[in-house]
This record gives sequence, structure tokens and C-alpha cells, in this order.
Amino acid sequence: MLLSRIIMCMNTCVKCVKLFCWSERNKMSIEIKPLDPANRNACPKEFSFGATFSDHMFTQDYEKGKGWYDALISPYHALTLDPSAAVFHYSQEIFEGLKAYRTPNGTINLFRPEENFKRFNRSANRMVMPEVDVKFHLDAVKKLITLDQAWVPEQDGASLYIRPTMIATTPKLGLGASSSYTHFIITGPAGSYFSGGLTPISVYVAEEYHRAVRGGVGEAKTGGNYAASLYASEEVAKRGYSQVLWLDAVDNKYIEEVGAMNICFVYQDKNSGKKRIVTPALSGSILPGITRDSILQLAPAIGYEITEERLDINQILADIDSGKITEVFGCGTAAVISPVGTLCFGGKDHVINNNETGDVSKHLYDELTGIQYGTHEDRFGWIQSI
Ligand code: PLP
Repeated sequence: MLLSRIIMCMNTCVKCVKLFCWSERNKMSIEIKPLDPANRNACPKEFSFGATFSDHMFTQDYEKGKGWYDALISPYHALTLDPSAAVFHYSQEIFEGLKAYRTPNGTINLFRPEENFKRFNRSANRMVMPEVDVKFHLDAVKKLITLDQAWVPEQDGASLYIRPTMIATTPKLGLGASSSYTHFIITGPAGSYFSGGLTPISVYVAEEYHRAVRGGVGEAKTGGNYAASLYASEEVAKRGYSQVLWLDAVDNKYIEEVGAMNICFVYQDKNSGKKRIVTPALSGSILPGITRDSILQLAPAIGYEITEERLDINQILADIDSGKITEVFGCGTAAVISPVGTLCFGGKDHVINNNETGDVSKHLYDELTGIQYGTHEDRFGWIQSI
């Protein structure tokens, strides 16, 4: 009797261990179900950003109480969601954007990818969504790109754009945080932002509309911020400007961002000729860009002082008009550096540097892209090669 009880107990323990191992494996390993090599595609010669996608994608699901499970790399496919899934109704969604770069010797570089997953987790926290394991998801990106390496374009200035996204999937209309989520990563080729060299853009300062407000979700990379920006973007496009400059929503005068980029101003000292870069200090409603952070670290190493300040639009325009500000540029993963040639405020155009690309913009662009494409020394250890 006692012996049979002991045997039963031992069997139960073995089952438990097996189940634990299965569920841990299920959580911590990535299953790969690739397309048959004969059915795989190479990156097309021509593509437009965000419209062409690579052969495979990563998916993983989450359930409250169970955690993340079923990490899978499989052929690119449509998702099936219940029409009542929370993401459709209350926009519980976050995303990231990073790139893989083909180096001259054929290897593939990722630029500061952990920073994207750390920001993904900060966005997740703000939107009451589960965090992901940074190392695990970096590994998922590397596996995905290794499988789809034929999709990393070789053209000058082109790259493979990587879009990690998390959506709330619980089918319920009652307002509240979802209890289930899907995290997916898709990738697709992106051409050079500036095919004919850096070209200055024209920017309109929005006074009536705001992208985000302190205490809101402007610091998080969540879809609603971008939906909220569309109306003003359409309005300024009708007036012939390509981007919106966003002011803070409380005082309506402090500079925040330009389009979906952070912004920098270059001051030149008349006597010494020294150049100083100024960027708005993070305010709670500004997205903390990884390019912005890279410029904060890189600029002093290549001869520019750089500061983060609260910048009043009226002072900035006066400094442009008096010639103290010699360059303005946006910065972000998409364009890296985007010079601003015209800033329109209250119907008046303020032209910067004769609407030409300045030396500092060009210098930073060359340094950053040099590191990304592996032609410049990676002095900060920002690159992870695949
Ligand atoms: N600001 C906004 C609103 C953005 O969407 C982005 C792009 O992600 C940036 C700034 C620049 O961020 P990053 O340099 O990380 O691309």
C-alpha cells in the first residue's frame, strides 16, 4: 500500500517536472517554421517604405497568469482577431522602429537595438501592457533577420526596417486593460531617405494643434499619438510644408518635436566660430529618440558642445533672424538627420542657412551613418553585427 503510494507520488512528480520543462521551453525558446527555400523571395530592386515586407515574421502571445508563450518565426501572414479585440476600440498598442544595415563587406549591423526594446518596455508600462524580455526579443530579431538576410538591401543608404508591435487582443468592449496580447515583429526594406543628398525640409509651426501633453502618452511610442498628429500634418501639407513643428500643449510656446523626429538647433559663436547644439529637454510629452540620445553622446566627441534646454519658439525665431542660429535639423531613425530650411510661424517664413544643408547636419549625418553602415569606427559600442 505504502509502496504503491510512493510510486504514484513519484509518477506525479515526474509529470510535473515534464510539464514545467515543456512550459518553460515553450516560454523561452523560439520555434522556427521557415518557408521552403524554393519559395523564398529576395529583396526586390524597387520598393517603397512600409509597403513591401520580408518573407517571415515573429509572433508571441501573452496571457495574464501564464506570461509570454509560443514564440514563433513563421511566414509573413495576416492576423486573425476578434472584432471586439481591445486594440480596435481603445488603442492599447505600442510599437518600435529600428533598422538593419548592410555593410560593405556584406555583414549586417543593428544600431543600439536594446535601446528600442527598453523603450518598448517603457511604452508597455505606460499603456498597462506586459514587458518583454529584452535579450530574448533581441535574439528573436537576430534570428528573423538571419532567416531573411536576403531582404537586407545593398543599395546605397538603404536598410531593412524592423517594426516590433504589441496589441491588446482580449475580446471585450468593457474599458480596462486587456488580459491577453500579441507581440509581432515584421520587417521590410527601406530606401535611402535622401536619394540626392541631404535636402532641407520646410516646417510649419502648429499653434492650434498639439501632438501630446505632459501627463499624457507623448513619451510612449503608441499609435494614438500618430493618429492624433494626422490632421495637422494634412493641414500643413495643403499649405505646402512637409512637416509640423509641435509646441507644448500647456504654454503653447515651448518647442517639442518636428513631425516624428526630435529637433536640434545649432548656435555659432560670432567671435570664436564655435558651434553649440541645443535640443529641447525631455518634458514628458517628447518621445526620447535613440538618434537624439546618440547625438547627445556623439556631438562632444566630434567637437560640439550640446545642451538640453527648454526652448521658447519666439526666442528661437529671433535667433534665426539675427543669424545666431545657423542650422536647424530633425533627427530620427528614418532620416537620421533632416535639415530644416524654412520655419513658418504665424504665416511668416523664417529661412535658415539660405535653405541649404549646414556643415553640422552633414557632419553628424556622415558620422552616424558611418557607424551604422560599418565604415566609421564604432567608438561607443553601439553596433551589434549579425
Ligand atoms: N519623435 C517621434 C514622435 C518619433 O516617432 C520618432 C521616431 O521613432 C522620434 C522622435 C525619433 O526617435 P528615434 O531616434 O528613436 O527614431
